[in-house]
Amino acid sequence: MTDTRYDLVIAGAGLVGAALALQLAPVFAQRGLRLALVEAGSEPARFQGQSFDPRVVALTPGSRALLERLGLWRRIEAERVCAYREMHVWDGEASGRITFNADELGCEQLGHIVENSLLVRHLRQSLSYQTSVDWFQPAAVTGLEMREETDDGEVRVELDSGAVLTTALLVAADGAHSRVREFAGFDVREWAYEQKAIVTTVRTERAHGYCARQRFMQTGPLAFLPLHCQQPEPLSGSIQGWDSHYCSIVWSADSALADELMALDEDAFCQRLGREFEYALGEVTGTDQRHAIPLYQRHARDYTRPGVALVGDAAHSIHPLAGQGVNLGLKDTMALAEEVQRAMQRGLPLSDPSLLRRYQRQRMGDNLGMMALMEGFKRLFGSRTPPLIWARSAGLRRVDSLPLLKNTLARKAMGV
Ligand SMILES: Cc1cc2nc3c(=O)[nH]c(=O)nc-3n(C[C@H](O)[C@H](O)[C@H](O)COP(=O)(O)OP(=O)(O)OC[C@H]3O[C@@H](n4cnc5c(N)ncnc54)[C@H](O)[C@@H]3O)c2cc1C
Repeated sequence: MTDTRYDLVIAGAGLVGAALALQLAPVFAQRGLRLALVEAGSEPARFQGQSFDPRVVALTPGSRALLERLGLWRRIEAERVCAYREMHVWDGEASGRITFNADELGCEQLGHIVENSLLVRHLRQSLSYQTSVDWFQPAAVTGLEMREETDDGEVRVELDSGAVLTTALLVAADGAHSRVREFAGFDVREWAYEQKAIVTTVRTERAHGYCARQRFMQTGPLAFLPLHCQQPEPLSGSIQGWDSHYCSIVWSADSALADELMALDEDAFCQRLGREFEYALGEVTGTDQRHAIPLYQRHARDYTRPGVALVGDAAHSIHPLAGQGVNLGLKDTMALAEEVQRAMQRGLPLSDPSLLRRYQRQRMGDNLGMMALMEGFKRLFGSRTPPLIWARSAGLRRVDSLPLLKNTLARKAMGV
């Protein structure tokens, strides 16, 4: 059994854990500190041509700015991202509708749809050049000894390989079902939405026009997020065109309905999908393999315990209806990285309680606010009460007609 000491250990190198590691790695290298990344999974699959990762995220300009600072955005953009300039959201049960437009907001785009696997691959590739980072992969955290249980006041992290890492600070970035959160004894508030999100890639009759669309129904929201890929054949001469008939869909539906939709054959699913989406992009002409993900709302009552911090989905998971999960997680990493650097500048150990207190104070309010908003939306659009349906539709139309309020809402959602 090996016993190795690190200044900081991150459990989970998904989007959030890898982004945190990349923010800290150069500072650790300058100071001769060491960081360990423990990742249970293998390398993400590579999707190219007309094949897309079924899991995508809508990155806000705030998240893109972080990836720019980390020197990654150009490479990610050069490989494949889809910028969207418009967003249409409408009430499927009434006439309410709201539209957002980049020109109206004075920005180039509202956000970017990016495949999860592509982001993770670029983050991990950049990390592999960082001299301050040691990788443990595939390796899962299988046990912990908290600071109060050890003689030296360090956290002891046990891996399935038998290795034991000791550290001043352990960061749990191991996702919604975080084992680290469980081992460290964090208290979690959790409830099932009784909904599943069906995710897949579809091809539509009409081009998406670089617009993200979402229709709210009583059984849950249905989103079509624009994707594009290069045309297999050059259009004329050597000009390579973009094919913009692909969308990633997230169809959140009550569990019984989701099971019914998953059981349909491809033709029947495409027909149903086109109809439920009010043929906003014409017929759905093809679909990739479907995946159904059960949806939960989870929130840890605290984000920190002595020597341990939670970030990303390990701290909070929310309904995907506004595509905010990763964006909130990346904001967690920025706050924690800033606190770690602040502690270093002040000569404090990374186990200092003030570092963790300040991190929690910065992030909990923002995360809870977004979760409450998502919960409100979900309940409002899930309602079958006629006066409420009328009120929400009137509300949407009213907000749509008030540019100042609409812009404020859009800027909040965009993280700018
Ligand atoms: C249907 C759907 C659509 C979504 N759409 C959006 C969107 O448009 N925009 C957005 O911002 N968010 C979206 N989200 C949310 C987003 O996917 C999550 O917030 C995000 O993936 C969380 O990242 P994470 O790194 O915290 O966790 P994860 O991505 O779950 O990564 C956790 C990592 O930890 C590793 N791990 C797990 N256990 C261990 C262990 N014991 N030891 C070591 N490693 C371990 C895993 O292998 C994994 O690599 C969506 C979610 C769903 C379900």
